[in-house]
Amino acid sequence: MNAKQYVHDVFEAVVKRNGNEQEFQQAVKEVLETLVPVFEKYPEYMESGILDRIVEPERQIIFRVPWVDDSGKVQVNRGFRVQFNSAIGPYKGGLRFHPSVNVSIIKFLGFEQIFKNSLTGLPIGGGKGGSDFDPKGKSDSEIMRFCQSFMSELYRHISQDIDVPAGDIGVGAREIGFLFGQYKKLRGAYEAGVLTGKGLVYGGSLARKEATGYGLVYFVDEMIQAKGMTLKDKTVVVSGSGNVAIYAIEKLHQLGAKVVACSDSNGYIYDKDGIKVETVQKLKEVERKRISEYVKYHPEAEYNEAFLDIWKIKCDIALPCATQNEIDEEAAKILVANGVKAVGEGANMPSTLEATEVFLKNGVLFAPAKAANAGGVATSALEMSQNSMRLSWTFEEVDAKLKDIMVNIYKNASKYAEEFGMTDNLVAGANIAGFMKVAEAMQAQGIV
Ligand code: GLU
Repeated sequence: MNAKQYVHDVFEAVVKRNGNEQEFQQAVKEVLETLVPVFEKYPEYMESGILDRIVEPERQIIFRVPWVDDSGKVQVNRGFRVQFNSAIGPYKGGLRFHPSVNVSIIKFLGFEQIFKNSLTGLPIGGGKGGSDFDPKGKSDSEIMRFCQSFMSELYRHISQDIDVPAGDIGVGAREIGFLFGQYKKLRGAYEAGVLTGKGLVYGGSLARKEATGYGLVYFVDEMIQAKGMTLKDKTVVVSGSGNVAIYAIEKLHQLGAKVVACSDSNGYIYDKDGIKVETVQKLKEVERKRISEYVKYHPEAEYNEAFLDIWKIKCDIALPCATQNEIDEEAAKILVANGVKAVGEGANMPSTLEATEVFLKNGVLFAPAKAANAGGVATSALEMSQNSMRLSWTFEEVDAKLKDIMVNIYKNASKYAEEFGMTDNLVAGANIAGFMKVAEAMQAQGIV
């Protein structure tokens, strides 16, 4: 069998079977295009249908989530958990609560998670879940009732050895707390490792909150250092203002870079003197307000409602940390024309396929999400380890392990890119590195 034809046929089958799932098809296409040389080298993976199997989730659960709002009205949302691949460990991946959530979004995220989790070097499989519930504007008790109802169904499908959810967009410490409380009540046992991103007083890990943002910066730092650059005095644009963006900004400032912009889904802030991360943290983590309020505290900053125009700001490094497909071809071209040197994806799949192509063709150092934002899930796996051992490591211990993991992911992705004739293409390198471990495990475990 011809490797190129095999990969093409598998993608055609994915399109046929998942007709209107645009995001899922995009994620699959990106990975498959880079795997042709792997099948040329390992034809046995074609014979055992590794690719045919890896693109089909092991299990997909869709469920009703009824809850009562503060006015006494019954609301119904849809819940999802896609258990994508368990070849190297229990399913692992976040829960996203956002009105845009549907099967396609959860499947793209779950598919990415397989390779990302493999890249961490830790024993975790791939999964993802969530709901089309919109946490925006809801009271704490509405959030609690929703989380309890969501877990009333999910609990029967998860455990510390089966499937371990965590946070993602719309799911932070507050939601994880409510979800854990309900799981514990229904299970009747203290199974700390069933969820990660927990509060520090009930089994959470130090540095988990910071991990995705810090990990992204460690990765980008390693990537640019390999090309003789440093973060010192670099101008950086970070989109988003959630958990990933906040801690990326904090770490960038610690390492001497200057972040001049960040955003939310309503607009962006430009602060030429450098974003004051404490203000963003207060507005977003504590008060749950819009980023537009930033200018009340720092009148010298500018607020602009066209949030995608953030990519028109001249910068050395761009870190998209908001959501999928936030950088399209046109935005990528503008970034390149303005002299961007490196792009690091903090969000999942923030660049379209065309945008990625623009960066790679123009020699921009490009850190793809499944490598660059793996620090979050890696630290989740460290939280699981601590839960199993019934002890907790210090912040410094976890942070040091996180940094090691990010440096290793960079080295591994570069090594595979080079080995398969695509030097410096970390998109290909990360996909191949992530795939190899999962494929070897699947091969060893037979056709299951
Ligand atoms: N939602 C995060 C991600 O996209 C973290 C998942 C986890 O910690 O399980 O990787």
